[in-house]
Amino acid sequence: MAAMTPSARPFLNRRLAEFGTTIFAEMSALALSTGAINLGQGFPDTDGPEEIREAAVRALRDGRGNQYPPGPGVPELREAVAAHQRRRYGLAYDPGTEVLVTAGATEAIAASLLALVEPGDEVIAFEPYYDSYAASIAMAGGRRVPVTLRPHEGAFRLDLDELRDAVTDRTRLLLVNTPHNPTGTVLTRAELAEIARLAVERDLLVVTDEVYEHLAFDDAEHVPLASFPGMRERTVTIGSAGKTFSFTGWKVGWVTSTPELTGAVRSAKQFLTYVASGPFQYAVAEALALPDAYFDAFRADMRAKRDVLAAGLADAGFEVFRPAGTYFVTTDIRPLGESDGFAFCRALPERAGVVAVPNAVFYDDREAGAPFVRFAFCKRTEVLEEAAKRLKAAF
Ligand SMILES: *Cc1c(COP(=O)(O)O)cnc(C)c1O
Repeated sequence: MAAMTPSARPFLNRRLAEFGTTIFAEMSALALSTGAINLGQGFPDTDGPEEIREAAVRALRDGRGNQYPPGPGVPELREAVAAHQRRRYGLAYDPGTEVLVTAGATEAIAASLLALVEPGDEVIAFEPYYDSYAASIAMAGGRRVPVTLRPHEGAFRLDLDELRDAVTDRTRLLLVNTPHNPTGTVLTRAELAEIARLAVERDLLVVTDEVYEHLAFDDAEHVPLASFPGMRERTVTIGSAGKTFSFTGWKVGWVTSTPELTGAVRSAKQFLTYVASGPFQYAVAEALALPDAYFDAFRADMRAKRDVLAAGLADAGFEVFRPAGTYFVTTDIRPLGESDGFAFCRALPERAGVVAVPNAVFYDDREAGAPFVRFAFCKRTEVLEEAAKRLKAAF
Protein backbone atom coordinates (compact mmCIF):
# COMPACT_ATOMS: atom_id res chain seq x y z
CA MET A 1 0.00 0.00 0.00
CA ALA A 2 1.02 3.59 0.62
CA ALA A 3 4.53 4.74 1.38
CA MET A 4 5.34 4.60 5.06
CA THR A 5 6.22 7.57 7.23
CA PRO A 6 9.75 6.77 8.42
CA SER A 7 8.97 7.77 12.00
CA ALA A 8 6.06 5.32 12.27
CA ARG A 9 8.06 2.31 11.19
CA PRO A 10 9.47 1.12 14.53
CA PHE A 11 6.15 1.39 16.32
CA LEU A 12 3.38 0.38 13.94
CA ASN A 13 2.11 -3.10 14.72
CA ARG A 14 2.27 -6.00 12.28
CA ARG A 15 -1.40 -5.76 11.30
CA LEU A 16 -0.91 -2.21 10.06
CA ALA A 17 2.76 -2.31 9.08
CA GLU A 18 1.96 -2.08 5.36
CA PHE A 19 -0.24 0.99 5.76
CA GLY A 20 2.00 3.91 6.82
CA THR A 21 0.52 7.21 5.70
CA THR A 22 -1.71 7.31 2.69
CA ILE A 23 -0.55 8.52 -0.69
CA PHE A 24 -2.94 11.48 -0.33
CA ALA A 25 -0.78 13.09 2.34
CA GLU A 26 2.29 12.87 0.13
CA MET A 27 0.49 14.14 -2.96
CA SER A 28 -1.30 16.97 -1.15
CA ALA A 29 2.05 18.09 0.31
CA LEU A 30 3.47 18.09 -3.23
CA ALA A 31 0.49 20.15 -4.42
CA LEU A 32 1.18 22.72 -1.70
CA SER A 33 4.92 22.95 -2.25
CA THR A 34 4.61 23.26 -6.06
CA GLY A 35 1.36 25.24 -6.31
CA ALA A 36 -0.04 22.49 -8.53
CA ILE A 37 -3.77 21.93 -9.08
CA ASN A 38 -4.77 19.10 -6.76
CA LEU A 39 -6.86 16.54 -8.61
CA GLY A 40 -5.54 13.84 -6.28
CA GLN A 41 -7.93 13.69 -3.35
CA GLY A 42 -11.67 13.45 -3.98
CA PHE A 43 -13.17 16.41 -2.20
CA PRO A 44 -15.23 19.15 -3.87
CA ASP A 45 -13.75 22.67 -3.99
CA THR A 46 -17.15 24.26 -3.39
CA ASP A 47 -19.44 23.57 -0.45
CA GLY A 48 -22.87 21.97 -0.71
CA PRO A 49 -26.27 23.73 -0.62
CA GLU A 50 -26.40 26.95 1.40
CA GLU A 51 -29.73 25.97 2.98
CA ILE A 52 -28.14 22.79 4.36
CA ARG A 53 -25.19 24.73 5.76
CA GLU A 54 -27.74 27.06 7.38
CA ALA A 55 -29.56 24.04 8.81
CA ALA A 56 -26.32 23.02 10.55
CA VAL A 57 -25.88 26.54 11.95
CA ARG A 58 -29.47 26.51 13.19
CA ALA A 59 -29.01 23.15 14.91
CA LEU A 60 -25.84 24.40 16.58
CA ARG A 61 -27.53 27.64 17.75
CA ASP A 62 -30.65 25.82 18.95
CA GLY A 63 -28.55 23.43 20.99
CA ARG A 64 -29.50 20.38 18.98
CA GLY A 65 -26.65 17.87 18.86
CA ASN A 66 -24.15 19.87 20.88
CA GLN A 67 -24.09 17.10 23.48
CA TYR A 68 -23.76 13.36 22.79
CA PRO A 69 -26.56 12.44 20.41
CA PRO A 70 -28.24 9.01 20.80
CA GLY A 71 -25.89 6.09 19.99
CA PRO A 72 -27.73 4.99 16.83
CA GLY A 73 -28.01 8.58 15.58
CA VAL A 74 -30.63 11.30 16.02
CA PRO A 75 -34.17 10.07 15.24
CA GLU A 76 -34.66 12.78 12.58
CA LEU A 77 -31.71 11.48 10.56
CA ARG A 78 -32.57 7.82 11.00
CA GLU A 79 -36.06 8.58 9.73
CA ALA A 80 -34.68 10.59 6.83
CA VAL A 81 -32.34 7.74 5.84
CA ALA A 82 -35.22 5.24 5.95
CA ALA A 83 -37.43 7.59 3.92
CA HIS A 84 -34.66 8.06 1.35
CA GLN A 85 -34.18 4.29 0.90
CA ARG A 86 -37.93 3.83 0.56
CA ARG A 87 -38.49 6.73 -1.81
CA ARG A 88 -35.57 5.98 -4.14
CA TYR A 89 -35.37 2.21 -4.05
CA GLY A 90 -38.56 0.89 -2.48
CA LEU A 91 -36.47 -0.58 0.37
CA ALA A 92 -38.20 -0.44 3.75
CA TYR A 93 -36.03 -0.08 6.87
CA ASP A 94 -37.26 0.52 10.40
CA PRO A 95 -35.56 3.73 11.61
CA GLY A 96 -35.73 2.38 15.17
CA THR A 97 -33.76 -0.82 14.63
CA GLU A 98 -32.41 -0.95 11.08
CA VAL A 99 -30.57 2.37 10.64
CA LEU A 100 -27.30 3.34 12.30
CA VAL A 101 -25.59 6.72 11.90
CA THR A 102 -21.78 6.60 11.72
CA ALA A 103 -18.82 8.98 11.53
CA GLY A 104 -18.83 8.90 7.73
CA ALA A 105 -18.75 5.82 5.55
CA THR A 106 -15.19 5.22 6.75
CA GLU A 107 -16.36 4.33 10.24
CA ALA A 108 -19.26 2.32 8.85
CA ILE A 109 -16.79 0.21 6.85
CA ALA A 110 -14.42 -0.26 9.79
CA ALA A 111 -17.20 -1.06 12.27
CA SER A 112 -18.85 -3.53 9.87
CA LEU A 113 -15.62 -5.45 9.37
CA LEU A 114 -14.67 -5.33 13.05
CA ALA A 115 -18.12 -6.62 13.96
CA LEU A 116 -18.61 -9.30 11.31
CA VAL A 117 -15.18 -10.78 10.57
CA GLU A 118 -13.44 -13.42 12.69
CA PRO A 119 -9.64 -13.45 12.64
CA GLY A 120 -8.58 -15.52 9.64
CA ASP A 121 -11.86 -15.08 7.75
CA GLU A 122 -11.48 -14.25 4.08
CA VAL A 123 -12.97 -11.03 2.81
CA ILE A 124 -13.33 -10.55 -0.94
CA ALA A 125 -13.00 -6.99 -2.26
CA PHE A 126 -12.76 -5.68 -5.79
CA GLU A 127 -9.32 -4.48 -6.76
CA PRO A 128 -8.46 -1.62 -7.19
CA TYR A 129 -10.13 -0.94 -3.82
CA TYR A 130 -10.86 2.20 -1.81
CA ASP A 131 -7.86 2.59 0.45
CA SER A 132 -9.59 2.10 3.81
CA TYR A 133 -10.82 -1.41 2.88
CA ALA A 134 -7.46 -3.14 3.14
CA ALA A 135 -6.64 -1.44 6.44
CA SER A 136 -10.07 -2.16 7.93
CA ILE A 137 -9.88 -5.83 6.91
CA ALA A 138 -6.42 -5.97 8.50
CA MET A 139 -7.61 -4.32 11.73
CA ALA A 140 -10.37 -6.94 11.92
CA GLY A 141 -7.74 -9.69 11.49
CA GLY A 142 -9.32 -10.78 8.21
CA ARG A 143 -7.53 -11.93 5.07
CA ARG A 144 -8.25 -9.85 2.02
CA VAL A 145 -8.83 -11.63 -1.24
CA PRO A 146 -8.82 -9.21 -4.16
CA VAL A 147 -10.79 -9.79 -7.34
CA THR A 148 -9.36 -7.51 -9.99
CA LEU A 149 -11.48 -5.33 -12.26
CA ARG A 150 -9.76 -5.29 -15.64
CA PRO A 151 -9.98 -2.93 -18.62
CA HIS A 152 -12.31 -4.23 -21.28
CA GLU A 153 -13.74 -2.13 -24.10
CA GLY A 154 -13.08 1.20 -22.42
CA ALA A 155 -14.16 0.35 -18.87
CA PHE A 156 -12.96 -1.70 -15.90
CA ARG A 157 -15.14 -4.81 -15.66
CA LEU A 158 -15.72 -7.47 -13.06
CA ASP A 159 -15.05 -11.06 -14.16
CA LEU A 160 -17.87 -13.00 -12.52
CA ASP A 161 -16.09 -16.33 -12.99
CA GLU A 162 -13.07 -14.95 -11.19
CA LEU A 163 -15.33 -13.78 -8.37
CA ARG A 164 -16.97 -17.19 -8.13
CA ASP A 165 -13.55 -18.88 -8.04
CA ALA A 166 -12.38 -16.57 -5.26
CA VAL A 167 -15.05 -17.84 -2.83
CA THR A 168 -13.78 -20.58 -0.52
CA ASP A 169 -15.09 -22.27 2.62
CA ARG A 170 -13.28 -19.59 4.59
CA THR A 171 -14.97 -16.67 2.81
CA ARG A 172 -17.10 -14.74 5.27
CA LEU A 173 -17.92 -11.56 3.48
CA LEU A 174 -18.04 -9.78 0.13
CA LEU A 175 -17.09 -6.11 0.28
CA VAL A 176 -18.73 -4.48 -2.73
CA ASN A 177 -18.43 -0.90 -3.99
CA THR A 178 -20.68 0.51 -6.71
CA PRO A 179 -20.40 3.10 -8.23
CA HIS A 180 -16.76 2.11 -7.89
CA ASN A 181 -13.88 4.29 -6.75
CA PRO A 182 -11.33 4.61 -8.42
CA THR A 183 -12.45 3.11 -11.76
CA GLY A 184 -15.85 4.84 -12.14
CA THR A 185 -17.46 1.51 -12.98
CA VAL A 186 -21.13 1.11 -12.10
CA LEU A 187 -22.09 -2.54 -11.76
CA THR A 188 -25.02 -3.47 -13.98
CA ARG A 189 -28.26 -4.99 -12.79
CA ALA A 190 -27.21 -8.31 -14.39
CA GLU A 191 -23.81 -8.28 -12.63
CA LEU A 192 -25.41 -7.43 -9.28
CA ALA A 193 -27.97 -10.22 -9.76
CA GLU A 194 -25.07 -12.68 -10.25
CA ILE A 195 -23.25 -11.36 -7.16
CA ALA A 196 -26.49 -11.74 -5.20
CA ARG A 197 -26.99 -15.31 -6.44
CA LEU A 198 -23.45 -16.19 -5.41
CA ALA A 199 -23.86 -14.61 -1.96
CA VAL A 200 -27.06 -16.55 -1.35
CA GLU A 201 -25.65 -19.82 -2.71
CA ARG A 202 -22.48 -19.59 -0.58
CA ASP A 203 -24.25 -17.99 2.39
CA LEU A 204 -22.01 -14.91 2.47
CA LEU A 205 -22.51 -11.61 4.22
CA VAL A 206 -22.26 -8.57 1.98
CA VAL A 207 -21.10 -5.10 2.93
CA THR A 208 -21.84 -2.68 0.10
CA ASP A 209 -20.35 0.80 -0.08
CA GLU A 210 -22.81 2.93 -2.04
CA VAL A 211 -21.51 6.42 -1.17
CA TYR A 212 -21.71 7.42 -4.86
CA GLU A 213 -25.30 6.20 -5.24
CA HIS A 214 -26.37 9.58 -6.62
CA LEU A 215 -23.51 9.76 -9.12
CA ALA A 216 -24.38 7.28 -11.87
CA PHE A 217 -24.24 9.05 -15.22
CA ASP A 218 -25.92 8.66 -18.61
CA ASP A 219 -27.44 5.19 -19.01
CA ALA A 220 -25.82 3.80 -15.87
CA GLU A 221 -28.22 3.10 -13.04
CA HIS A 222 -27.39 2.57 -9.40
CA VAL A 223 -29.21 -0.47 -8.05
CA PRO A 224 -28.70 -1.33 -4.35
CA LEU A 225 -27.55 -4.89 -3.76
CA ALA A 226 -30.01 -5.16 -0.87
CA SER A 227 -32.88 -5.00 -3.38
CA PHE A 228 -32.09 -8.41 -4.94
CA PRO A 229 -33.82 -11.61 -3.78
CA GLY A 230 -32.33 -13.06 -0.61
CA MET A 231 -30.08 -10.05 -0.08
CA ARG A 232 -31.83 -7.78 2.36
CA GLU A 233 -31.20 -10.19 5.23
CA ARG A 234 -27.46 -10.59 4.48
CA THR A 235 -26.50 -7.10 3.32
CA VAL A 236 -25.10 -4.12 5.21
CA THR A 237 -25.60 -1.06 3.00
CA ILE A 238 -23.40 1.98 3.59
CA GLY A 239 -24.22 5.54 2.57
CA SER A 240 -22.70 8.94 3.31
CA ALA A 241 -23.62 12.60 3.12
CA GLY A 242 -20.08 13.67 2.23
CA LYS A 243 -20.09 12.90 -1.47
CA THR A 244 -23.81 13.43 -2.18
CA PHE A 245 -24.08 16.84 -0.53
CA SER A 246 -20.50 18.11 -0.93
CA PHE A 247 -19.79 18.30 2.79
CA THR A 248 -16.98 15.80 3.12
CA GLY A 249 -15.75 17.40 6.36
CA TRP A 250 -18.97 16.72 8.23
CA LYS A 251 -18.42 12.96 8.37
CA VAL A 252 -22.00 11.80 8.52
CA GLY A 253 -22.57 8.30 7.19
CA TRP A 254 -25.05 5.52 7.84
CA VAL A 255 -25.72 1.82 7.72
CA THR A 256 -29.02 0.19 6.79
CA SER A 257 -29.53 -3.52 7.45
CA THR A 258 -31.49 -6.01 9.52
CA PRO A 259 -31.85 -5.37 13.27
CA GLU A 260 -29.34 -8.14 13.97
CA LEU A 261 -26.66 -6.95 11.55
CA THR A 262 -27.22 -3.29 12.41
CA GLY A 263 -26.92 -4.18 16.08
CA ALA A 264 -23.67 -6.04 15.47
CA VAL A 265 -22.17 -3.07 13.60
CA ARG A 266 -23.34 -0.78 16.37
CA SER A 267 -21.55 -2.93 18.95
CA ALA A 268 -18.24 -2.20 17.22
CA LYS A 269 -19.09 1.40 16.36
CA GLN A 270 -19.86 2.35 19.97
CA PHE A 271 -16.21 1.76 20.90
CA LEU A 272 -14.78 3.63 17.94
CA THR A 273 -16.45 7.06 18.11
CA TYR A 274 -19.59 6.14 20.10
CA VAL A 275 -21.28 9.12 18.38
CA ALA A 276 -20.19 11.95 16.10
CA SER A 277 -21.23 15.07 14.18
CA GLY A 278 -24.26 15.94 16.39
CA PRO A 279 -25.52 19.19 14.80
CA PHE A 280 -24.58 17.99 11.31
CA GLN A 281 -26.88 15.00 11.70
CA TYR A 282 -29.88 17.35 11.80
CA ALA A 283 -28.68 19.18 8.71
CA VAL A 284 -28.16 15.94 6.80
CA ALA A 285 -31.69 14.86 7.72
CA GLU A 286 -32.89 17.98 5.87
CA ALA A 287 -30.52 17.32 2.98
CA LEU A 288 -31.83 13.80 2.42
CA ALA A 289 -35.33 15.24 2.13
CA LEU A 290 -34.33 17.69 -0.63
CA PRO A 291 -36.49 17.33 -3.75
CA ASP A 292 -35.36 15.15 -6.66
CA ALA A 293 -34.38 18.38 -8.46
CA TYR A 294 -31.37 18.75 -6.14
CA PHE A 295 -30.08 15.25 -6.85
CA ASP A 296 -30.74 15.62 -10.60
CA ALA A 297 -28.91 18.95 -10.79
CA PHE A 298 -25.99 17.61 -8.76
CA ARG A 299 -25.64 14.62 -11.06
CA ALA A 300 -25.90 16.76 -14.20
CA ASP A 301 -23.26 19.15 -12.85
CA MET A 302 -20.84 16.34 -12.04
CA ARG A 303 -21.44 14.70 -15.41
CA ALA A 304 -20.55 17.98 -17.14
CA LYS A 305 -17.35 18.20 -15.06
CA ARG A 306 -16.51 14.63 -15.98
CA ASP A 307 -16.87 15.55 -19.65
CA VAL A 308 -14.56 18.56 -19.31
CA LEU A 309 -11.80 16.59 -17.59
CA ALA A 310 -12.18 13.44 -19.69
CA ALA A 311 -11.95 15.48 -22.90
CA GLY A 312 -8.93 17.40 -21.58
CA LEU A 313 -7.10 14.22 -20.61
CA ALA A 314 -7.82 12.58 -23.96
CA ASP A 315 -6.64 15.73 -25.73
CA ALA A 316 -3.39 15.61 -23.73
CA GLY A 317 -2.80 12.05 -24.95
CA PHE A 318 -3.98 9.87 -22.05
CA GLU A 319 -6.15 6.84 -22.65
CA VAL A 320 -9.32 7.70 -20.76
CA PHE A 321 -11.69 5.22 -19.14
CA ARG A 322 -14.82 7.31 -19.25
CA PRO A 323 -16.38 6.80 -15.81
CA ALA A 324 -20.06 5.83 -15.54
CA GLY A 325 -20.12 7.17 -11.97
CA THR A 326 -18.25 8.71 -8.99
CA TYR A 327 -15.91 11.71 -8.77
CA PHE A 328 -13.00 10.10 -10.60
CA VAL A 329 -11.58 9.31 -14.00
CA THR A 330 -8.94 6.63 -14.40
CA THR A 331 -6.44 6.96 -17.23
CA ASP A 332 -3.76 4.78 -18.82
CA ILE A 333 -0.45 6.63 -19.24
CA ARG A 334 1.09 4.20 -21.72
CA PRO A 335 0.06 6.25 -24.78
CA LEU A 336 2.29 9.00 -23.30
CA GLY A 337 5.23 6.60 -23.36
CA GLU A 338 5.05 6.08 -19.59
CA SER A 339 4.39 2.89 -17.65
CA ASP A 340 5.08 3.61 -13.96
CA GLY A 341 2.18 5.51 -12.40
CA PHE A 342 4.10 6.16 -9.16
CA ALA A 343 7.02 7.85 -10.90
CA PHE A 344 4.62 9.64 -13.22
CA CYS A 345 2.56 11.09 -10.33
CA ARG A 346 5.64 12.11 -8.34
CA ALA A 347 6.93 14.05 -11.36
CA LEU A 348 3.58 15.45 -12.54
CA PRO A 349 3.35 18.50 -10.23
CA GLU A 350 6.73 19.83 -11.48
CA ARG A 351 6.16 18.72 -15.02
CA ALA A 352 2.58 19.89 -15.54
CA GLY A 353 1.40 21.68 -12.39
CA VAL A 354 -1.22 19.02 -11.69
CA VAL A 355 -1.52 16.40 -8.94
CA ALA A 356 -3.00 12.94 -9.58
CA VAL A 357 -2.87 9.61 -7.77
CA PRO A 358 -1.26 6.38 -8.98
CA ASN A 359 -3.91 3.64 -8.99
CA ALA A 360 -1.23 1.11 -7.99
CA VAL A 361 -1.81 2.16 -4.35
CA PHE A 362 -5.27 0.60 -4.65
CA TYR A 363 -3.90 -2.79 -5.74
CA ASP A 364 -2.26 -5.77 -4.04
CA ASP A 365 -1.05 -6.66 -7.50
CA ARG A 366 1.00 -3.51 -8.08
CA GLU A 367 1.91 -4.67 -11.58
CA ALA A 368 -1.74 -4.83 -12.59
CA GLY A 369 -2.24 -1.24 -11.46
CA ALA A 370 1.08 0.25 -12.59
CA PRO A 371 0.04 2.16 -15.74
CA PHE A 372 -3.16 3.66 -14.33
CA VAL A 373 -3.53 7.14 -12.84
CA ARG A 374 -6.62 8.68 -11.23
CA PHE A 375 -7.83 12.27 -11.51
CA ALA A 376 -10.72 13.79 -9.50
CA PHE A 377 -13.21 16.00 -11.34
CA CYS A 378 -15.24 17.24 -8.35
CA LYS A 379 -13.69 20.70 -8.86
CA ARG A 380 -14.85 24.01 -10.34
CA THR A 381 -15.05 23.93 -14.13
CA GLU A 382 -12.43 26.67 -14.53
CA VAL A 383 -10.04 24.63 -12.39
CA LEU A 384 -10.60 21.56 -14.58
CA GLU A 385 -10.11 23.66 -17.72
CA GLU A 386 -6.86 25.08 -16.37
CA ALA A 387 -5.65 21.57 -15.45
CA ALA A 388 -6.52 20.36 -18.97
CA LYS A 389 -4.60 23.27 -20.47
CA ARG A 390 -1.52 22.56 -18.35
CA LEU A 391 -1.59 18.85 -19.21
CA LYS A 392 -1.96 19.56 -22.90
CA ALA A 393 1.03 21.92 -22.76
CA ALA A 394 3.17 19.40 -20.86
CA PHE A 395 2.62 16.36 -23.10
C1 LIG B 1 -15.00 8.93 0.10
C2 LIG B 1 -15.30 7.48 0.21
C3 LIG B 1 -15.63 6.90 1.44
C4 LIG B 1 -15.55 7.65 2.75
O1 LIG B 1 -16.68 8.37 3.00
P1 LIG B 1 -16.76 9.29 4.32
O2 LIG B 1 -18.22 9.46 4.50
O3 LIG B 1 -16.03 10.55 4.00
O4 LIG B 1 -16.11 8.57 5.42
C5 LIG B 1 -15.96 5.56 1.46
N1 LIG B 1 -15.97 4.82 0.34
C6 LIG B 1 -15.64 5.34 -0.86
C7 LIG B 1 -15.68 4.46 -2.05
C8 LIG B 1 -15.29 6.68 -0.96
O5 LIG B 1 -14.91 7.18 -2.15
